[in-house]
Amino acid sequence: MIVSLTHDANPDLVRQRLVARGLWIASTLRDASGAVRQFSIAPSSAAASLAEIAAIEGVASVTTSKSEHPLMDRQGPVVTIAGVTIGEGAAVWMCGPCSVESEDQIKRAAAHLASLGVSFLRGGAFKPRTSPYAFQGHGSKALGWMRKAADAAGMRVVTEALSEADVGVVAEHADMIQIGSRNMHNYALLKAAGAAKMPVLLKRGMAATVEEWLLAGEYLLASGAASVVLCERGIRSFDDATRNMLDLGAVALLSHVHRVPVIVDPSHGTGRRDLLLPMGRAALAAGAAGLMIETHDAPGEAKSDGPQAVPLEQMGGLLRSLGGRPEGGAR
Ligand code: PEP
Ligand code: MN
Repeated sequence: MIVSLTHDANPDLVRQRLVARGLWIASTLRDASGAVRQFSIAPSSAAASLAEIAAIEGVASVTTSKSEHPLMDRQGPVVTIAGVTIGEGAAVWMCGPCSVESEDQIKRAAAHLASLGVSFLRGGAFKPRTSPYAFQGHGSKALGWMRKAADAAGMRVVTEALSEADVGVVAEHADMIQIGSRNMHNYALLKAAGAAKMPVLLKRGMAATVEEWLLAGEYLLASGAASVVLCERGIRSFDDATRNMLDLGAVALLSHVHRVPVIVDPSHGTGRRDLLLPMGRAALAAGAAGLMIETHDAPGEAKSDGPQAVPLEQMGGLLRSLGGRPEGGAR
């Protein structure tokens, strides 16, 4: 929003009046002589009508700048996916192994996680691996195992479509299509995933700005996605003390200011199972609608991301400490 000042206005007084009304000044625009002519109002400001602002003494006119992501703005902070509400009420858990390694493994995980109140079973069938020699996932076969395990346990499935070619089979088996960090900028994939008309969990690109992330969400909604939930999974920083830098400022901004549902993935965000409790708590405090957490019944033998996987038998304790209901049924 741009507020233009009258020629005789005292910019300091107008600024004070705007701030008193809860309107934050993002930037000041000056004319060639250096005089303050306009204020740009931060989108994070309190809601105020144009007429209300125009009535402030010293304000000549107010104009709105058009958002580039109107569908994301309009979606609202609460979505319901296969009967599970995200963004309102108890935190939603999305848990499971990094990779679906066998039918038995995913069956055991689903049965145990469901008993803890975990509503979404996660697990990669198509794995985006940094090395071409690393385990690439069991593909479509794993999707079948996962769907069966989730159905038996009464859970929903969220799993990644790695390429346009995977979207069809992922859509057939999942309740929610995951777009991974490495693919947030893959616009052809975003269009294909949106065209499946399903809910999408959109992970943040590891070097993506919040605006780019929202625009990727806009691609999905514009292409037909039923809903979009964002997932903060850490961004690249100069420091490799943790695997990534979990950006909880962005989580607060998105959930409290943009009013978009955000799930936080502290597993990929930190790369360390010992940091999941403090960072999970911090994420929920920042406004996360739920958490994605990787688990494995034998993390030392995991085919991917073992160091961040929580031993399956410790998941109950972790979720309880994070605020799930003690006897399960967090949702
Ligand atoms: C995952 O969640 O399975 C995954 C690969 O995460 P990311 O895309 O965030 O790296
Ligand atoms: Mn992983």
